[in-house]
Amino acid sequence: MPRVLVTGGAGYIGSHTAHLLRSRDHHPVVVDDLSRGHAHNLDGLPFHRLNLRDTRALASLLKNEAIDAVIHFAAFIAVGESTRAPELYFANNTAGSFSLLEAMAEARISRLVFSSTAAVYGDPDAVPIPEHARIAPVSPYGESKVMVERALYWMDKFRGLRSIVLRYFNACGADPEFPLGEEHDPETHLIPLLLQAVLTGRPITIFGDDYPTPDGTCIRDYIHVRDLAEAHVLALDYLIAGGPSGAFNAGTGAGHSVRDVIRAVEDVTGAKVPYTIGPRRAGDPPSLVADSSALQRTLGWRPRYTSLHEIVDSAWRFARRSTTSPAE
Ligand code: UDP
Repeated sequence: MPRVLVTGGAGYIGSHTAHLLRSRDHHPVVVDDLSRGHAHNLDGLPFHRLNLRDTRALASLLKNEAIDAVIHFAAFIAVGESTRAPELYFANNTAGSFSLLEAMAEARISRLVFSSTAAVYGDPDAVPIPEHARIAPVSPYGESKVMVERALYWMDKFRGLRSIVLRYFNACGADPEFPLGEEHDPETHLIPLLLQAVLTGRPITIFGDDYPTPDGTCIRDYIHVRDLAEAHVLALDYLIAGGPSGAFNAGTGAGHSVRDVIRAVEDVTGAKVPYTIGPRRAGDPPSLVADSSALQRTLGWRPRYTSLHEIVDSAWRFARRSTTSPAE
């Protein structure tokens, strides 16, 4: 039973993955500083409250817990915030990851799955985006992840650290099997905001309807959090079986516009979404869709949630549950 450190395991994607690992006979151990994660997501998982930049404590923890491999989620994720306070992103995401790499080297751990992002591609020349597309982030958030990807390249070459980098597209939804869902504070993501608009009657602003897309709104690749969690378990098992390092896009390959998502929300909830059209949001590329054929080919991954309706339905079940039971 591999013992797996899950950094950021109290957060959205981290907690889904930690619970999936436990259900698959792995032994997840969570570290999280709870600055953005939620203790109620842990639900009995072994847990240490720690900031990754505490290299000494992290190295001791890796040794004491006899960790075999690490899945590293812990990071700030808001593109807009990263443009207002880039230093937060370089300190937390980049320096936090470098500290983890140092602690792993000290504890002689040589398997890592790393949460990266489609934001490493910035505004791509063409979609769907393959992994060999130009790396050209347009935000400090994207850059904070690129810097870690570069470090992983050198750690592989000269330290024997094998890593799988997963570049996420738009993670969303909630797993019906676990009492988990998306609850960022403040929430910035489209699907939970649309559901909140339905629940509260307060309109959401659509960031621009004059993009060069068929209906003028931005197109994104929405990947269900359970499918994403499955990709992490496959990546981990692949590394443990001796697989080489690699970087993979994690998306479904289907693009949906903001208006498509609004229609799906109206379909699922049976209510009209109150919205207004506002200006474009800085740094939003018109279209981001993954070519995830490499992930499918190499790791045998297949997305199960391929309908937007099903994805929104899972998020809606969670949104209704969390409005009736107070969160921490
Ligand atoms: N979006 C929007 N209004 C909002 C939040 C998001 O129109 O209040 C749009 C955003 O411009 C993008 C899409 O929804 O085109 C998905 O945005 P989100 O922040 O969920 O994810 P991102 O693509 O930034 O990772």
